[in-house]
Amino acid sequence: MYDVQAIRSDFPILSRQVNGKPLTYLDNGASAQKPQVVIDAVAQAYSQEYSNVHRGLHFLSNLATDKYEAVRGTVARFLGAASEDEIVLNSGTTEGINLVAYGWAMPRMEAGDEIILSVMEHHANIVPWHFLRERQGVVLKWVDVDATGALDPQAVIDAITPRTKLIAITQVSNVLGTKVDVKAITEAAHAKGVAVLVDGSQAAVHMPVNVAEIGCDFYAITGHKLYGPSGSGAIYIKSERMAEMRPFMGGGDMIKEVGKDEVIYNDPPMMFEAGTPGIVQTIGLGVALDYMMGLGLDKIAAHEDSLRDYTSERLAGLNWLNLQGTTPDKAAIFSFTLEGAAHAHDISTILDKRGVAVRAGHHCAGPLMDHLGVTATCRASFGLYNTKEEVDTLVDALELAHELFA
Ligand code: PMP
Repeated sequence: MYDVQAIRSDFPILSRQVNGKPLTYLDNGASAQKPQVVIDAVAQAYSQEYSNVHRGLHFLSNLATDKYEAVRGTVARFLGAASEDEIVLNSGTTEGINLVAYGWAMPRMEAGDEIILSVMEHHANIVPWHFLRERQGVVLKWVDVDATGALDPQAVIDAITPRTKLIAITQVSNVLGTKVDVKAITEAAHAKGVAVLVDGSQAAVHMPVNVAEIGCDFYAITGHKLYGPSGSGAIYIKSERMAEMRPFMGGGDMIKEVGKDEVIYNDPPMMFEAGTPGIVQTIGLGVALDYMMGLGLDKIAAHEDSLRDYTSERLAGLNWLNLQGTTPDKAAIFSFTLEGAAHAHDISTILDKRGVAVRAGHHCAGPLMDHLGVTATCRASFGLYNTKEEVDTLVDALELAHELFA
């Protein structure tokens, strides 16, 4: 049984008011709120258990190291990875994808080699590949979504040529909510010797993920969307790919020995974790993932699917609302504009007056905005603690905005 009211009481911020109204937090796609267990773990780490990790021999350093290192195993369990050695801990998806760009792709790609991207990618899964285009003449090939926002996996597979080295693709769009069949894409890509990076920033929040089942080479997640602290995250890297990688950032912790004329790197995954990490953020991430797994990833997904269906139904009744992405195979993320030309920012300001937090803008998805022919949308994105009553509050606030701008 999924007791959403009990779950809501785990998140202290959800009981606050905004602009004199109860908070209706629908900006989870940007960042999720934190349960008390995560807040307590962060406070405990700083107040009782803090020290730098890995290099101390004293009690607190060992304690902090044990707590930090345990998160590698938690992430591996959360993602269904065979070994915690396939997990690089980092500050989030952006860092994870840059690591793959610099550590794996740059050393092995030449002018004319190709990377396939979907038009739905977030800038974090675009800009690092532009670096390869600018510096090495790598060609970026884009695959469009259809009019419902769905992405046909076959279209991605058909874009593969003998020059394709990598497919970098999101599993869930942060704008449309569209789910992508990354397993089918990976199977076909591997049959042709092409590696696959999956941006799991949104997917891991809304559905159980199993990287062994997907078979992908890289899978990036970001902690702050997973109810954990900002500045935490991880990337799964298949061991064969990790063995092919060169270090990206150099510094302390990623080495075994450093002399004037030589350097011996640490073993992977430590080789890819230079400098003092986000110790407390990462400890908090481990607690957040345990919290999610404790609720049940299947149960969270089922709850959010029912919110998605209810929201789709309610929004379909608003004939002045243009919903972007109508495919039913999606997560509970809704982007829209209103007829009457009110700018997305104006709509979000009105919703905010009703205590409803949504995001307005391009959502770091420039190519998708071009594809849709809009400059900005409003986005309502749901999380594990949202309710049907909050969907009603959103719709009431949208009706008010419509009346004001009609
Ligand atoms: N990819 C997707 C699909 C996202 O939604 C986001 C965050 N909006 C990112 C990548 C980047 O995540 P971060 O900024 O935490 O690195």
